[in-house]
Amino acid sequence: AAGTAVKTFEQLVEKIRASEKPYDLEKITQAYKVAEKAHEGQLRTSGDPYITHPLAVASILLDYCMDTDTICAALLHDTVEDTDVTLDELRKKFGEDVALMVDGVTKIGLVPLVSKEEQQAENIRKILMAMSKDIRVIIIKLADRLHNMRTLGSMAPNKQYKIAGETLYIYAPLAHRLGLFAIKTELEDLAFKYEHPKTYETISRKIAESEAKRAAVYTDFSLPIKEKLDTLGLKYEAKARLKSVYSIWNKMETKHVPFEEVYDLYAMRIVFDCDDPAREKAICWNIYAVITDLYRLHPERTRDWISTPKANGYQALHLTVMGPDGNWVEVQIRSRRMDEIAEKGFAAHWKYKIGEGDEESELNAWLRTIKDILDNPEPSAIDFLDTVKLNLFASEIVVFTPKGELITLPAGASVLDVAFTLHSEIGMHCIAGKVNHKLVPLSSRLNSGDQVEILTSQSQSPQPEWADFLVTAHAKTRLRAVLRKMRQPIMAKG
Ligand code: MN
Repeated sequence: AAGTAVKTFEQLVEKIRASEKPYDLEKITQAYKVAEKAHEGQLRTSGDPYITHPLAVASILLDYCMDTDTICAALLHDTVEDTDVTLDELRKKFGEDVALMVDGVTKIGLVPLVSKEEQQAENIRKILMAMSKDIRVIIIKLADRLHNMRTLGSMAPNKQYKIAGETLYIYAPLAHRLGLFAIKTELEDLAFKYEHPKTYETISRKIAESEAKRAAVYTDFSLPIKEKLDTLGLKYEAKARLKSVYSIWNKMETKHVPFEEVYDLYAMRIVFDCDDPAREKAICWNIYAVITDLYRLHPERTRDWISTPKANGYQALHLTVMGPDGNWVEVQIRSRRMDEIAEKGFAAHWKYKIGEGDEESELNAWLRTIKDILDNPEPSAIDFLDTVKLNLFASEIVVFTPKGELITLPAGASVLDVAFTLHSEIGMHCIAGKVNHKLVPLSSRLNSGDQVEILTSQSQSPQPEWADFLVTAHAKTRLRAVLRKMRQPIMAKG
Protein backbone atom coordinates (compact mmCIF):
# COMPACT_ATOMS: atom_id res chain seq x y z
CA ALA A 1 0.00 0.00 0.00
CA ALA A 2 0.97 3.66 -0.33
CA GLY A 3 3.52 4.79 2.19
CA THR A 4 4.76 1.28 3.04
CA ALA A 5 8.41 1.59 4.06
CA VAL A 6 10.68 -0.30 1.69
CA LYS A 7 14.18 -0.92 3.03
CA THR A 8 15.42 -3.85 0.93
CA PHE A 9 15.28 -4.81 -2.71
CA GLU A 10 13.30 -7.93 -1.80
CA GLN A 11 10.59 -5.70 -0.34
CA LEU A 12 10.59 -3.59 -3.48
CA VAL A 13 10.17 -6.71 -5.62
CA GLU A 14 7.29 -7.80 -3.41
CA LYS A 15 5.64 -4.45 -3.94
CA ILE A 16 6.16 -4.63 -7.71
CA ARG A 17 4.56 -8.11 -7.79
CA ALA A 18 1.66 -6.93 -5.65
CA SER A 19 0.97 -4.12 -8.13
CA GLU A 20 0.07 -6.74 -10.76
CA LYS A 21 1.34 -4.41 -13.48
CA PRO A 22 3.51 -5.44 -16.40
CA TYR A 23 6.84 -4.29 -14.95
CA ASP A 24 10.11 -5.51 -16.45
CA LEU A 25 11.51 -7.04 -13.28
CA GLU A 26 14.68 -8.18 -15.03
CA LYS A 27 15.59 -4.62 -16.04
CA ILE A 28 14.72 -3.23 -12.61
CA THR A 29 16.92 -5.91 -10.99
CA GLN A 30 19.83 -4.92 -13.23
CA ALA A 31 19.35 -1.25 -12.28
CA TYR A 32 19.31 -2.18 -8.62
CA LYS A 33 22.53 -4.16 -8.95
CA VAL A 34 24.34 -1.24 -10.60
CA ALA A 35 23.08 1.17 -7.92
CA GLU A 36 23.91 -1.19 -5.06
CA LYS A 37 27.47 -1.69 -6.29
CA ALA A 38 27.96 2.04 -6.95
CA HIS A 39 26.76 3.13 -3.51
CA GLU A 40 28.50 0.28 -1.68
CA GLY A 41 29.99 1.49 1.59
CA GLN A 42 28.25 4.89 1.40
CA LEU A 43 26.09 5.92 4.32
CA ARG A 44 23.34 8.50 4.69
CA THR A 45 23.53 11.13 7.46
CA SER A 46 21.07 8.94 9.36
CA GLY A 47 23.63 6.11 9.36
CA ASP A 48 21.53 3.94 7.04
CA PRO A 49 23.24 2.39 3.99
CA TYR A 50 22.92 4.82 1.09
CA ILE A 51 21.03 2.32 -1.10
CA THR A 52 18.02 2.63 1.23
CA HIS A 53 17.43 6.09 -0.27
CA PRO A 54 17.10 5.13 -3.99
CA LEU A 55 15.02 2.13 -2.87
CA ALA A 56 12.64 4.40 -0.97
CA VAL A 57 12.38 6.77 -3.94
CA ALA A 58 11.58 3.88 -6.29
CA SER A 59 8.96 2.68 -3.81
CA ILE A 60 7.24 6.09 -3.72
CA LEU A 61 7.12 6.07 -7.53
CA LEU A 62 5.52 2.63 -7.51
CA ASP A 63 2.68 4.16 -5.49
CA TYR A 64 2.21 6.52 -8.41
CA CYS A 65 2.14 3.70 -10.96
CA MET A 66 5.24 4.97 -12.76
CA ASP A 67 6.72 2.81 -15.52
CA THR A 68 9.72 0.47 -15.59
CA ASP A 69 12.17 3.10 -16.90
CA THR A 70 11.18 5.58 -14.20
CA ILE A 71 11.71 2.96 -11.49
CA CYS A 72 15.15 2.16 -12.98
CA ALA A 73 16.06 5.86 -13.14
CA ALA A 74 14.90 6.27 -9.52
CA LEU A 75 17.20 3.46 -8.39
CA LEU A 76 20.08 5.05 -10.30
CA HIS A 77 19.27 8.72 -9.70
CA ASP A 78 22.25 9.53 -7.46
CA THR A 79 24.85 7.31 -9.13
CA VAL A 80 26.17 9.76 -11.73
CA GLU A 81 26.56 12.60 -9.25
CA ASP A 82 27.92 10.65 -6.30
CA THR A 83 29.75 7.63 -7.74
CA ASP A 84 31.96 6.51 -10.65
CA VAL A 85 29.00 5.47 -12.80
CA THR A 86 28.78 7.50 -16.06
CA LEU A 87 25.83 8.49 -18.18
CA ASP A 88 27.29 6.58 -21.14
CA GLU A 89 27.35 3.44 -19.06
CA LEU A 90 23.69 3.92 -18.10
CA ARG A 91 22.75 4.64 -21.71
CA LYS A 92 24.37 1.40 -22.88
CA LYS A 93 22.83 -0.73 -20.14
CA PHE A 94 19.38 0.83 -19.75
CA GLY A 95 18.72 2.92 -22.84
CA GLU A 96 18.44 6.59 -23.70
CA ASP A 97 15.32 7.32 -21.59
CA VAL A 98 16.79 6.10 -18.31
CA ALA A 99 20.06 7.94 -18.97
CA LEU A 100 18.23 11.18 -19.81
CA MET A 101 16.10 10.94 -16.68
CA VAL A 102 19.12 10.41 -14.42
CA ASP A 103 20.83 13.33 -16.17
CA GLY A 104 17.75 15.54 -15.70
CA VAL A 105 17.42 14.73 -12.00
CA THR A 106 21.13 15.46 -11.52
CA LYS A 107 20.76 18.79 -13.36
CA ILE A 108 17.76 19.94 -11.32
CA GLY A 109 19.94 19.38 -8.27
CA LEU A 110 22.41 21.88 -9.72
CA VAL A 111 19.87 24.68 -10.22
CA PRO A 112 20.82 27.33 -7.70
CA LEU A 113 17.94 27.90 -5.30
CA VAL A 114 17.90 31.27 -3.65
CA SER A 115 15.97 32.34 -0.61
CA LYS A 116 13.70 35.14 -1.88
CA GLU A 117 10.19 34.04 -2.62
CA GLU A 118 9.91 35.67 -6.05
CA GLN A 119 13.15 34.18 -7.18
CA GLN A 120 12.04 30.80 -5.96
CA ALA A 121 9.00 31.17 -8.18
CA GLU A 122 11.25 32.07 -11.07
CA ASN A 123 13.20 28.90 -10.41
CA ILE A 124 10.07 26.78 -10.56
CA ARG A 125 9.35 28.17 -13.95
CA LYS A 126 12.86 27.47 -15.15
CA ILE A 127 12.76 23.93 -13.89
CA LEU A 128 9.39 23.28 -15.46
CA MET A 129 10.31 24.68 -18.82
CA ALA A 130 13.71 23.12 -19.07
CA MET A 131 12.51 19.73 -17.91
CA SER A 132 9.12 19.53 -19.54
CA LYS A 133 10.61 17.42 -22.31
CA ASP A 134 10.30 14.50 -19.94
CA ILE A 135 8.03 15.24 -17.03
CA ARG A 136 9.08 11.99 -15.37
CA VAL A 137 12.26 13.81 -14.34
CA ILE A 138 10.25 16.16 -12.15
CA ILE A 139 8.25 13.31 -10.67
CA ILE A 140 11.44 11.46 -9.71
CA LYS A 141 12.80 14.68 -8.22
CA LEU A 142 9.62 15.09 -6.16
CA ALA A 143 9.87 11.54 -4.84
CA ASP A 144 13.55 12.16 -4.07
CA ARG A 145 12.65 15.31 -2.16
CA LEU A 146 9.82 13.56 -0.31
CA HIS A 147 12.15 10.87 1.00
CA ASN A 148 14.79 13.46 1.93
CA MET A 149 12.10 15.36 3.85
CA ARG A 150 10.94 12.20 5.64
CA THR A 151 14.51 11.65 6.82
CA LEU A 152 15.40 15.30 7.43
CA GLY A 153 15.61 14.77 11.19
CA SER A 154 19.18 13.50 10.98
CA MET A 155 20.49 16.60 9.17
CA ALA A 156 22.11 19.63 10.83
CA PRO A 157 19.49 22.28 11.84
CA ASN A 158 20.73 24.96 9.39
CA LYS A 159 20.48 22.46 6.53
CA GLN A 160 17.02 21.40 7.71
CA TYR A 161 15.87 24.99 7.52
CA LYS A 162 17.22 25.58 4.02
CA ILE A 163 15.84 22.33 2.60
CA ALA A 164 12.45 22.90 4.25
CA GLY A 165 12.25 26.39 2.71
CA GLU A 166 13.02 25.10 -0.77
CA THR A 167 10.45 22.37 -0.34
CA LEU A 168 7.72 24.82 0.61
CA TYR A 169 8.43 27.31 -2.17
CA ILE A 170 9.35 25.03 -5.02
CA TYR A 171 8.57 21.36 -4.62
CA ALA A 172 5.17 21.52 -2.91
CA PRO A 173 3.76 23.92 -5.57
CA LEU A 174 5.25 21.70 -8.27
CA ALA A 175 3.52 18.65 -6.81
CA HIS A 176 0.28 20.62 -6.66
CA ARG A 177 0.66 21.66 -10.29
CA LEU A 178 1.03 18.06 -11.34
CA GLY A 179 -1.95 16.97 -9.28
CA LEU A 180 0.17 14.84 -6.93
CA PHE A 181 -1.80 15.93 -3.86
CA ALA A 182 -0.65 13.30 -1.40
CA ILE A 183 2.98 14.26 -2.08
CA LYS A 184 2.13 17.95 -1.92
CA THR A 185 0.39 17.69 1.46
CA GLU A 186 3.12 15.57 3.01
CA LEU A 187 5.85 17.87 1.70
CA GLU A 188 4.09 20.93 3.12
CA ASP A 189 3.53 19.39 6.52
CA LEU A 190 7.11 18.14 6.80
CA ALA A 191 8.56 21.45 5.62
CA PHE A 192 6.38 23.37 8.05
CA LYS A 193 7.46 21.11 10.89
CA TYR A 194 11.11 22.02 10.35
CA GLU A 195 10.53 25.70 9.55
CA HIS A 196 8.28 26.38 12.54
CA PRO A 197 8.89 23.51 14.98
CA LYS A 198 7.19 25.22 17.94
CA THR A 199 4.07 26.26 16.03
CA TYR A 200 3.88 22.80 14.47
CA GLU A 201 4.03 21.24 17.89
CA THR A 202 1.39 23.60 19.31
CA ILE A 203 -1.08 23.02 16.48
CA SER A 204 -0.53 19.24 16.59
CA ARG A 205 -1.21 19.27 20.32
CA LYS A 206 -4.38 21.31 19.92
CA ILE A 207 -5.60 18.96 17.22
CA ALA A 208 -5.04 16.01 19.55
CA GLU A 209 -6.76 17.79 22.45
CA SER A 210 -9.84 18.67 20.44
CA GLU A 211 -10.08 15.17 18.96
CA ALA A 212 -12.84 13.85 21.23
CA LYS A 213 -15.06 16.88 20.80
CA ARG A 214 -14.55 16.85 17.07
CA ALA A 215 -15.41 13.17 16.81
CA ALA A 216 -18.67 13.76 18.69
CA VAL A 217 -19.63 16.67 16.42
CA TYR A 218 -18.80 14.62 13.35
CA THR A 219 -20.96 11.73 14.49
CA ASP A 220 -23.90 14.09 15.10
CA PHE A 221 -23.42 15.61 11.69
CA SER A 222 -22.79 12.49 9.63
CA LEU A 223 -25.29 10.05 11.11
CA PRO A 224 -28.43 11.47 9.47
CA ILE A 225 -26.60 11.67 6.13
CA LYS A 226 -25.47 8.06 6.33
CA GLU A 227 -28.95 6.83 7.25
CA LYS A 228 -30.37 8.57 4.21
CA LEU A 229 -27.63 7.31 1.87
CA ASP A 230 -28.12 3.75 3.11
CA THR A 231 -31.77 3.86 2.13
CA LEU A 232 -30.65 4.80 -1.41
CA GLY A 233 -28.68 1.57 -1.62
CA LEU A 234 -25.38 3.30 -2.34
CA LYS A 235 -22.05 1.62 -1.69
CA TYR A 236 -19.90 4.34 -0.18
CA GLU A 237 -17.33 5.27 2.39
CA ALA A 238 -17.72 8.36 4.56
CA LYS A 239 -15.01 9.83 6.73
CA ALA A 240 -13.92 13.02 8.42
CA ARG A 241 -10.85 14.38 6.72
CA LEU A 242 -8.83 16.48 9.07
CA LYS A 243 -6.99 19.45 7.61
CA SER A 244 -3.22 19.15 7.61
CA VAL A 245 -1.25 21.06 10.23
CA TYR A 246 0.16 23.26 7.51
CA SER A 247 -3.20 24.16 6.00
CA ILE A 248 -4.64 24.99 9.44
CA TRP A 249 -1.70 27.29 10.09
CA ASN A 250 -2.13 28.82 6.65
CA LYS A 251 -5.73 29.66 7.48
CA MET A 252 -4.76 31.12 10.87
CA GLU A 253 -2.21 33.36 9.14
CA THR A 254 -4.29 34.51 6.17
CA LYS A 255 -7.51 35.06 8.15
CA HIS A 256 -5.71 36.31 11.27
CA VAL A 257 -7.64 33.98 13.56
CA PRO A 258 -6.53 31.79 16.48
CA PHE A 259 -6.66 27.99 16.19
CA GLU A 260 -10.03 27.88 18.00
CA GLU A 261 -11.61 29.96 15.25
CA VAL A 262 -10.51 27.91 12.28
CA TYR A 263 -14.03 26.63 11.91
CA ASP A 264 -13.54 24.11 9.12
CA LEU A 265 -10.95 21.95 10.81
CA TYR A 266 -12.28 18.97 8.99
CA ALA A 267 -14.22 18.19 5.88
CA MET A 268 -16.51 15.23 5.45
CA ARG A 269 -15.61 13.16 2.45
CA ILE A 270 -17.98 10.74 0.78
CA VAL A 271 -16.42 8.34 -1.72
CA PHE A 272 -18.85 6.10 -3.56
CA ASP A 273 -18.32 3.07 -5.77
CA CYS A 274 -19.66 3.22 -9.28
CA ASP A 275 -18.87 0.99 -12.25
CA ASP A 276 -20.32 3.33 -14.83
CA PRO A 277 -18.46 6.65 -15.25
CA ALA A 278 -21.48 8.05 -17.10
CA ARG A 279 -23.56 7.85 -13.90
CA GLU A 280 -21.01 9.45 -11.56
CA LYS A 281 -22.19 13.01 -11.98
CA ALA A 282 -25.85 12.18 -11.31
CA ILE A 283 -24.93 10.24 -8.16
CA CYS A 284 -22.88 13.18 -6.89
CA TRP A 285 -25.87 15.50 -7.25
CA ASN A 286 -28.17 12.92 -5.60
CA ILE A 287 -25.91 12.92 -2.57
CA TYR A 288 -25.83 16.71 -2.70
CA ALA A 289 -29.61 16.76 -2.56
CA VAL A 290 -29.63 14.41 0.45
CA ILE A 291 -27.26 16.67 2.37
CA THR A 292 -28.96 19.95 1.50
CA ASP A 293 -32.33 18.48 2.54
CA LEU A 294 -30.84 17.91 5.99
CA TYR A 295 -28.68 21.00 6.47
CA ARG A 296 -28.66 24.63 5.49
CA LEU A 297 -26.51 25.26 2.42
CA HIS A 298 -23.91 28.01 2.32
CA PRO A 299 -25.07 29.82 -0.82
CA GLU A 300 -21.64 30.73 -2.16
CA ARG A 301 -19.58 27.68 -1.46
CA THR A 302 -20.74 25.00 -3.84
CA ARG A 303 -17.92 24.00 -6.19
CA ASP A 304 -18.69 21.81 -9.17
CA TRP A 305 -15.33 20.36 -10.21
CA ILE A 306 -17.12 17.63 -12.12
CA SER A 307 -18.61 19.70 -14.93
CA THR A 308 -15.34 21.65 -15.15
CA PRO A 309 -12.44 19.67 -13.69
CA LYS A 310 -9.38 21.59 -12.48
CA ALA A 311 -6.48 21.79 -14.91
CA ASN A 312 -4.56 19.22 -12.91
CA GLY A 313 -7.39 16.71 -13.28
CA TYR A 314 -9.13 17.16 -9.93
CA GLN A 315 -12.82 16.23 -9.97
CA ALA A 316 -15.32 16.39 -7.10
CA LEU A 317 -18.45 18.15 -5.94
CA HIS A 318 -17.89 20.38 -2.90
CA LEU A 319 -20.52 22.03 -0.74
CA THR A 320 -20.57 23.73 2.62
CA VAL A 321 -23.50 23.38 5.01
CA MET A 322 -24.20 24.44 8.57
CA GLY A 323 -23.67 21.62 11.05
CA PRO A 324 -25.83 20.96 14.14
CA ASP A 325 -23.36 22.87 16.34
CA GLY A 326 -23.70 25.99 14.16
CA ASN A 327 -20.33 25.62 12.43
CA TRP A 328 -19.87 25.38 8.69
CA VAL A 329 -18.79 21.96 7.43
CA GLU A 330 -17.39 21.29 4.00
CA VAL A 331 -18.50 18.08 2.31
CA GLN A 332 -16.57 16.62 -0.62
CA ILE A 333 -18.39 14.13 -2.83
CA ARG A 334 -16.37 11.91 -5.18
CA SER A 335 -16.51 8.60 -6.97
CA ARG A 336 -13.74 6.07 -6.28
CA ARG A 337 -12.16 7.02 -9.60
CA MET A 338 -12.21 10.75 -8.78
CA ASP A 339 -10.74 10.00 -5.37
CA GLU A 340 -7.79 8.18 -6.93
CA ILE A 341 -7.15 11.12 -9.23
CA ALA A 342 -7.37 13.52 -6.31
CA GLU A 343 -4.74 11.60 -4.36
CA LYS A 344 -2.43 10.56 -7.16
CA GLY A 345 -3.03 12.99 -9.99
CA PHE A 346 -3.09 11.86 -13.56
CA ALA A 347 -1.13 8.74 -12.67
CA ALA A 348 -4.48 7.35 -11.55
CA HIS A 349 -5.85 7.54 -15.06
CA TRP A 350 -3.21 5.13 -16.15
CA LYS A 351 -4.07 2.77 -13.35
CA TYR A 352 -7.68 2.69 -14.41
CA LYS A 353 -6.93 1.97 -18.01
CA ILE A 354 -4.45 -0.83 -17.50
CA GLY A 355 -5.40 -3.96 -19.34
CA GLU A 356 -6.88 -2.11 -22.29
CA GLY A 357 -3.66 -0.91 -23.85
CA ASP A 358 0.00 -1.64 -23.38
CA GLU A 359 1.96 -0.10 -20.53
CA GLU A 360 3.95 2.42 -22.53
CA SER A 361 1.18 4.01 -24.53
CA GLU A 362 -1.02 4.70 -21.50
CA LEU A 363 1.82 6.23 -19.56
CA ASN A 364 2.82 8.33 -22.53
CA ALA A 365 -0.74 9.56 -22.85
CA TRP A 366 -0.62 10.70 -19.25
CA LEU A 367 2.73 12.41 -19.70
CA ARG A 368 1.38 14.19 -22.75
CA THR A 369 -1.56 15.46 -20.76
CA ILE A 370 0.77 16.93 -18.16
CA LYS A 371 2.83 18.53 -20.88
CA ASP A 372 -0.31 20.02 -22.41
CA ILE A 373 -1.14 21.56 -19.05
CA LEU A 374 2.29 23.10 -18.87
CA ASP A 375 2.05 24.38 -22.42
CA ASN A 376 -1.51 25.73 -22.34
CA PRO A 377 -2.55 27.88 -19.44
CA GLU A 378 -6.25 27.76 -18.62
CA PRO A 379 -8.27 29.91 -16.24
CA SER A 380 -8.56 26.96 -13.85
CA ALA A 381 -4.77 26.84 -13.60
CA ILE A 382 -4.82 30.28 -12.05
CA ASP A 383 -5.01 29.01 -8.47
CA PHE A 384 -1.52 27.63 -8.81
CA LEU A 385 -0.22 30.72 -10.54
CA ASP A 386 -1.63 32.91 -7.80
CA THR A 387 -0.01 30.83 -5.10
CA VAL A 388 3.48 31.34 -6.32
CA LYS A 389 2.95 34.61 -8.16
CA LEU A 390 4.58 33.57 -11.35
CA ASN A 391 3.78 33.58 -14.98
CA LEU A 392 4.63 30.12 -16.17
CA PHE A 393 3.95 30.90 -19.74
CA ALA A 394 5.74 34.19 -20.33
CA SER A 395 7.43 34.62 -23.68
CA GLU A 396 10.77 33.49 -22.40
CA ILE A 397 13.04 30.53 -22.96
CA VAL A 398 15.63 28.94 -20.73
CA VAL A 399 18.83 27.43 -22.10
CA PHE A 400 21.80 25.73 -20.46
CA THR A 401 25.52 26.30 -20.75
CA PRO A 402 27.66 23.13 -21.02
CA LYS A 403 28.33 23.54 -17.29
CA GLY A 404 24.60 23.38 -16.55
CA GLU A 405 24.13 27.09 -15.83
CA LEU A 406 20.68 28.42 -16.75
CA ILE A 407 20.26 31.47 -18.95
CA THR A 408 16.84 33.11 -19.35
CA LEU A 409 16.24 34.85 -22.68
CA PRO A 410 13.30 36.35 -24.58
CA ALA A 411 11.64 33.90 -26.97
CA GLY A 412 13.29 34.00 -30.39
CA ALA A 413 16.76 34.63 -28.96
CA SER A 414 19.71 33.45 -31.04
CA VAL A 415 23.06 31.82 -30.34
CA LEU A 416 24.60 35.29 -30.57
CA ASP A 417 22.29 36.55 -27.78
CA VAL A 418 23.70 33.86 -25.52
CA ALA A 419 27.25 34.90 -26.44
CA PHE A 420 26.53 38.52 -25.51
CA THR A 421 24.75 37.46 -22.32
CA LEU A 422 27.83 35.54 -21.21
CA HIS A 423 30.16 38.49 -21.92
CA SER A 424 30.37 41.32 -24.45
CA GLU A 425 33.84 40.12 -25.53
CA ILE A 426 32.45 36.65 -26.21
CA GLY A 427 29.69 38.28 -28.24
CA MET A 428 32.13 40.30 -30.39
CA HIS A 429 34.20 37.25 -31.28
CA CYS A 430 31.43 34.70 -31.68
CA ILE A 431 31.69 32.71 -34.92
CA ALA A 432 29.15 29.93 -34.35
CA GLY A 433 27.52 27.81 -31.69
CA LYS A 434 26.90 24.23 -30.77
CA VAL A 435 23.31 23.54 -29.85
CA ASN A 436 22.82 20.17 -28.22
CA HIS A 437 26.27 19.25 -29.54
CA LYS A 438 25.43 20.16 -33.17
CA LEU A 439 27.23 22.96 -34.98
CA VAL A 440 24.89 25.86 -35.90
CA PRO A 441 25.35 29.43 -37.27
CA LEU A 442 25.29 32.28 -34.76
CA SER A 443 21.94 33.45 -36.11
CA SER A 444 20.32 30.16 -35.10
CA ARG A 445 17.20 30.57 -32.92
CA LEU A 446 17.03 28.65 -29.64
CA ASN A 447 14.39 26.60 -27.88
CA SER A 448 13.84 26.10 -24.18
CA GLY A 449 15.99 23.36 -22.75
CA ASP A 450 18.70 23.68 -25.42
CA GLN A 451 22.24 23.23 -24.32
CA VAL A 452 24.32 25.99 -25.94
CA GLU A 453 28.06 26.19 -26.37
CA ILE A 454 29.65 29.29 -27.93
CA LEU A 455 32.56 29.09 -30.36
CA THR A 456 34.78 32.18 -30.69
CA SER A 457 37.73 33.30 -32.76
CA GLN A 458 40.00 36.29 -32.16
CA SER A 459 39.87 37.11 -35.91
CA GLN A 460 36.10 37.63 -35.77
CA SER A 461 34.73 41.17 -35.62
CA PRO A 462 31.17 42.48 -35.11
CA GLN A 463 29.01 42.86 -38.25
CA PRO A 464 26.14 45.38 -38.78
CA GLU A 465 23.78 42.60 -39.97
CA TRP A 466 24.03 40.93 -36.55
CA ALA A 467 21.42 43.43 -35.39
CA ASP A 468 18.88 41.47 -37.48
CA PHE A 469 18.96 38.42 -35.25
CA LEU A 470 19.74 39.89 -31.85
CA VAL A 471 16.75 39.97 -29.52
CA THR A 472 18.09 41.01 -26.13
CA ALA A 473 18.29 44.75 -25.50
CA HIS A 474 21.66 44.42 -23.81
CA ALA A 475 23.26 42.73 -26.82
CA LYS A 476 21.75 45.24 -29.28
CA THR A 477 23.11 48.18 -27.26
CA ARG A 478 26.57 46.63 -27.03
CA LEU A 479 26.67 45.88 -30.75
CA ARG A 480 25.61 49.42 -31.70
CA ALA A 481 28.25 50.93 -29.39
CA VAL A 482 31.04 48.81 -30.85
CA LEU A 483 30.01 49.42 -34.46
CA ARG A 484 29.99 53.18 -33.78
CA LYS A 485 33.50 52.97 -32.32
CA MET A 486 34.77 50.98 -35.29
CA ARG A 487 33.40 53.59 -37.74
CA GLN A 488 35.00 56.55 -35.97
CA PRO A 489 38.62 56.10 -37.13
CA ILE A 490 37.40 55.64 -40.72
CA MET A 491 35.35 58.82 -40.54
CA ALA A 492 38.33 60.67 -39.02
CA LYS A 493 40.55 59.56 -41.89
CA GLY A 494 37.95 60.59 -44.46
MN1 MN B 1 18.55 11.49 -4.05
